[in-house]
Amino acid sequence: MENIPAVSPEEIRKQREYTEKIKVILSVKYPDSAPKAYVHTYGCQGNVSDSERIKGQLFEMGYRFTENREEADLVLFNTCAVREHAQDRVFGNVGALKPIKNTKKDMIIALCGCMMQQKHVWERIKRSYPYVNLVFGTFAIHRVPELLYKVLRSGKRVFETEETKGEIVEGLPVYRDRDFKMWLPIMYGCNNFCSYCVVPYVRGRERSRQPDEVLKEARELISLGAKEITLLGQNVNSYGKNSSHGMNFPKLLKAVNDLPGDFKIRFMTSHPKDCTKELLDTMASCEKVSRHLHLPFQSGNDRVLREMNRGYTRQQYIELINYAKSVMPDISVTSDIIVGFPGETYEEFLDTLSLIEEVKFTSLFTFIFSPREGTKAKNMPDPVSYQQKSEWFSELLKLQESIAAERCRSMVGNTYEVLVEGFTKEDDGRLTGRTDGNINIDFEGDPSLIGTFAKVKVTKALNWILSGELSQ
Ligand code: SAH
Ligand code: SF4
Repeated sequence: MENIPAVSPEEIRKQREYTEKIKVILSVKYPDSAPKAYVHTYGCQGNVSDSERIKGQLFEMGYRFTENREEADLVLFNTCAVREHAQDRVFGNVGALKPIKNTKKDMIIALCGCMMQQKHVWERIKRSYPYVNLVFGTFAIHRVPELLYKVLRSGKRVFETEETKGEIVEGLPVYRDRDFKMWLPIMYGCNNFCSYCVVPYVRGRERSRQPDEVLKEARELISLGAKEITLLGQNVNSYGKNSSHGMNFPKLLKAVNDLPGDFKIRFMTSHPKDCTKELLDTMASCEKVSRHLHLPFQSGNDRVLREMNRGYTRQQYIELINYAKSVMPDISVTSDIIVGFPGETYEEFLDTLSLIEEVKFTSLFTFIFSPREGTKAKNMPDPVSYQQKSEWFSELLKLQESIAAERCRSMVGNTYEVLVEGFTKEDDGRLTGRTDGNINIDFEGDPSLIGTFAKVKVTKALNWILSGELSQ
């Protein structure tokens, strides 16, 4: 039987009532111009998507957004707990707010997201950062109006960090940061408990949105002008498991593909243990699905993969990639890797390098193992020093750089369709576009091309940076 825990429409209505009350409070408090909110998001696209829903609620209350935290009346950090480094940055940035708050007493400081779902973190905030007014975890994003109302009315600090069973929230307003590349969450939480990972502890159990809700939002995005829709979930391949509607991820992908419109579809993240030939065949047959597969393998060594609790072997991973390449010869594959998992030896690390050489990934997201509170790997013996792991890490980067450079060289002379995303980071007036395989090409062009598809011929490869020119 289907049992998808959903937030009731009454609860959402109750939150809307709080929104109305806040509107009145804010209009009295800020009679001359709308109050400003600064929202900063750390971590993955799941967090970016949550922030869009939080911003939607803030917008309805009357807040408008600023990029300058000094002029903000409300500062909100949506935090990430996946690695120590991300966590330290949040603590550093919260610390940096103290002098601003000292000169602006009514500024509200709020923290939310994965870090706030960890007891040792919110206890530290409670103890050592008394100027933080509001803390809420990942299970409470639909209750922002109620929580903020409490802060505004009482002036007291509010902490809402309870772990619930995790629900699906529909019907929240969304303030989208981008108008042609858009996020579409299809599921929340994770059941995989990879031994290094904190996500299942801070995001709750896996739960999929109903297919009609996903498709409704997809239609909405298309009508708003989406040129690229990215379907989001920690493991999109387990979409629909335990549901009676019979829609698994490949079928959902096909249903989105079949919606009319001129747009591309991406998805992340796919877990190799649940990645099926059905998915790869579906990708191959769907013209709107980009030829890009992000399939994290984490380690190329079977013993390490077992210790990580990943549920597949090196061989199974390679077979999947070979199958993907056989049905989509132009597929571009990217991955995530952890270097220095507890107990990993140099010989085992070399298996990761050999897998990289074998598959020839387009790009890699590489991380040095970071011990996370509450996970199994945190208590595993970890004899290799950080210094040593950093050296392995550099070795891996060097290998990947040469593979990427080789790939880029092979693209010179070819023409690709790109989605023009904006100006380059160099601020030189040039534009940058992303190919179907998720590779950036910089080129000269009119800014009116931003948000459209254009054909670009690659003229030069400088290591892994591609330059090109518009072609007819
Ligand atoms: N659900 C996705 C990944 C989410 S976290 C998946 O399974 O692929 C994103 C990446 O962060 C992971 O793929 C992993 O490579 C990295 N990561 C997660 N926990 C980590 C840790 N404790 N230390 C280092 N890297 C970690
Ligand atoms: Fe973390 Fe593994 Fe779940 Fe990904 S699949 S979020 S790495 S536990």
